[in-house]
Amino acid sequence: MLNLLSSWKTYGSLPLALAILFVAVLAPAATTASFQKIPIEQAIREANESHQMEIGMKSRQLEKQRSLEKTLGIQGALPTQYQYDVLYYRMQMRVDVDIEWVYAQVDQMATATQDNVTFCDIDLYANMIIDSVRVDNVLTTFTRNGNVFRADLPTPVNTGGQFTVQTFYQGHPVEGGFQAFAFEIVQSQTLVSTLSEPYLARTWWPCKDYPDDKADSADIIVTYPSGMFCTSNGTMVSDVVNGSARTTSWKVRYPITTYLISLTMSNFKHWRDWMKYTATDSMPVDYWVFPNDSAAARTGYAPTVLMLDTLSRIFGLYPFIDEKYAMSAFNWGGAMEHQTNTSIIRGYYAQSMIVHEMGHQWWGDMITCRDWHHIWMNEGFASYVEALWFESLGGFADLRSYMNGFRSTQPSSTLCRPTTMTRATNGRTSRPRISATSASRSPAWICTDFSRTGFTVSTTQDTPTPTCRSSAESTRIASTSMSGRHSRLILQCSACR
Ligand SMILES: [Zn+2]
Repeated sequence: MLNLLSSWKTYGSLPLALAILFVAVLAPAATTASFQKIPIEQAIREANESHQMEIGMKSRQLEKQRSLEKTLGIQGALPTQYQYDVLYYRMQMRVDVDIEWVYAQVDQMATATQDNVTFCDIDLYANMIIDSVRVDNVLTTFTRNGNVFRADLPTPVNTGGQFTVQTFYQGHPVEGGFQAFAFEIVQSQTLVSTLSEPYLARTWWPCKDYPDDKADSADIIVTYPSGMFCTSNGTMVSDVVNGSARTTSWKVRYPITTYLISLTMSNFKHWRDWMKYTATDSMPVDYWVFPNDSAAARTGYAPTVLMLDTLSRIFGLYPFIDEKYAMSAFNWGGAMEHQTNTSIIRGYYAQSMIVHEMGHQWWGDMITCRDWHHIWMNEGFASYVEALWFESLGGFADLRSYMNGFRSTQPSSTLCRPTTMTRATNGRTSRPRISATSASRSPAWICTDFSRTGFTVSTTQDTPTPTCRSSAESTRIASTSMSGRHSRLILQCSACR
């Protein structure tokens, strides 16, 4: 059995985690936001539209990325990167939007997981210029090999010993994958945004760029032109304008993986709602949108707080409750569930998309796939979350209609059978296997037997164990297997029971 949950170590024991998932902990819903309930047929149409848009883009990019990997011979994390466990990242970055260049220092604090560790291999794209590297404030030597560099540790470190590699670098981050780091002009304003999924954080900052080693915390400090505002993960600590420059500091105090760290900066219009989750506690819900979009965005995003309440009742309290939930507009053709700060396409407000990205905060961000074989779990759950939202508005019949609507999203795909999942020979060096036709949207994929086995799925054979395989079976899942209540989170068809 393969443990899918890289965040297990930080979220406690299996029983505790399951309790978090299954026990509703939220106080009664806060005041209902004012928004228009849309007919389920419209919701399905919108969902199909946004899914097709994103599937097309993701699948094309993944195929491109895969061929690039083949060319470059990327094989996932190097075995040497498991000599250490990352604890913390501190990013200090200055973004020069005129010449599209970044200057930065990134500190990576880690613990040695074996004795006599004498070097530290870190991912960073080869085009970025490394000016110097220090280890625990002492200048050290380093060597580069493609998109990885090796920092020599002046003193060998034994198991449990900590060390911090400080990398000083600069460059123009290349775009790739779904986007990576982009400089654009939108509504006559400069927009800088990042989207690092699946492993393109390394295009703009040095890190151990794999989802199975979350940092326990991070600090993100960005300096940029004062006419803009930079949003990021976690809580804003300070925001200082000094002449033409502005420096904004964000702190993340929940575990976070590299692909979920993001920056979005432009001349945003901002407003804030609150999610009131107890009689005395509230969490900020922030919106950063382009000025011309702000009226429409206020209407479009009106359900956001109610969505947070609804998902918190189903899955357990929003997992980053001490920080925030936010949406920051960007120009990519879809949305990305950056932790506490979803990046979302400007001017498009389908409820399915808003709630999908929010659902990822539980499924993908709090609970993260160990490697990219299992991205279908993130996406399957987030798509199921859409159906749960429409059920909360219109009842079980709407959930059923919505789930059946997924069948037309990918008529050629195989539901319930992640056939592209391949065996991870050692659980460490697996490569992404997401095909163009299975961009992981089928919520029926969560119809597996892992609900009975503690969220693990066997990969002991190339075709894994989920037992319902036919589209006829998927109809049964949608039509007969859901109770309409949320006491049972995982869909199960008769074949899976
Ligand atoms: Zn998604």
